[in-house]
Amino acid sequence: MSSGRFAPSPSGDLHVGNLRTALLAWLCARTTGRDVVLRIEDLDRVREGAEQRQLADLAALGLDWDGPVVHQSQRARFYDAALASLAGRGLVFECFCTRREVLEAPSAPHGPPGSYPGTCRDLTASERDERRRERPVALRLRAAVADFTVEDVLHGTVTGVVDDVVLRRGDGAVAYNLAVVVDDAQQGVDQVVRGDDLLSSAPRQAYLATLLGATPPTYVHVPLALNVDGRRLAKRDGAVTRAELVDRGVDVLALIADSLGLEGATPHDMLRTFDVAAIPREPWIVTPPA
Ligand code: GLU
Repeated sequence: MSSGRFAPSPSGDLHVGNLRTALLAWLCARTTGRDVVLRIEDLDRVREGAEQRQLADLAALGLDWDGPVVHQSQRARFYDAALASLAGRGLVFECFCTRREVLEAPSAPHGPPGSYPGTCRDLTASERDERRRERPVALRLRAAVADFTVEDVLHGTVTGVVDDVVLRRGDGAVAYNLAVVVDDAQQGVDQVVRGDDLLSSAPRQAYLATLLGATPPTYVHVPLALNVDGRRLAKRDGAVTRAELVDRGVDVLALIADSLGLEGATPHDMLRTFDVAAIPREPWIVTPPA
């Protein structure tokens, strides 16, 4: 089954920008005959009650999804299997660097500032033994390419950096990039609609997908919602969640639809005229009501 998805992290309430991305993901999937997977990315940063409120907000907007809600916290065995498969092919190495060491080291030859410089790639067995005694061990991908190209419906052909991405963190948690790629592949997700803050992650995720035998999805990275100062919209910007807006008498779906030039009283109505190519390319500046 071919699917799109919405994959919120239950770290707090969704704001109107997140809800707009969810509506776009839903419209992109439904207008192309895809199912919608709803996946809760609860490997870390979980806030009590946030998932329930997120699901309620999505449903209140008129969005629906297919099959049960999937939780990353229940899927450790699949991430372990993917790691074992990569490790079995010599594609994983142990890394002992702290985040600060990575940031302060000279970057990889092709990488942007802060990209992994390859410090632990070629340690000898005795160097590894020594470091293991003092440091937590993260696992990184031994990337064989410096960049990778993806196709994005709004951004066209995008070539971006692939570095030795973390697969398992030093604290033992599965890294976001591995979990997302494993899940999308197993859940039949072949269309990824999400905020364009993740565009730069797409090449490394697509590369990882190919290593795991999957075809990279079609991407649609959509503009983010910004506050009036041009910064990413956040809770502190005032009335930005559905509950807060409803309290002030705002019709949240109408507000989002208006920002997208869409007409209709429900997401289903909007399917008739939705055109992915007409998604605005500029960020959405949100002025919360007083
Ligand atoms: N869980 C991520 C977030 O809420 C989204 C990950 C993705 O769409 O790939 O920011």
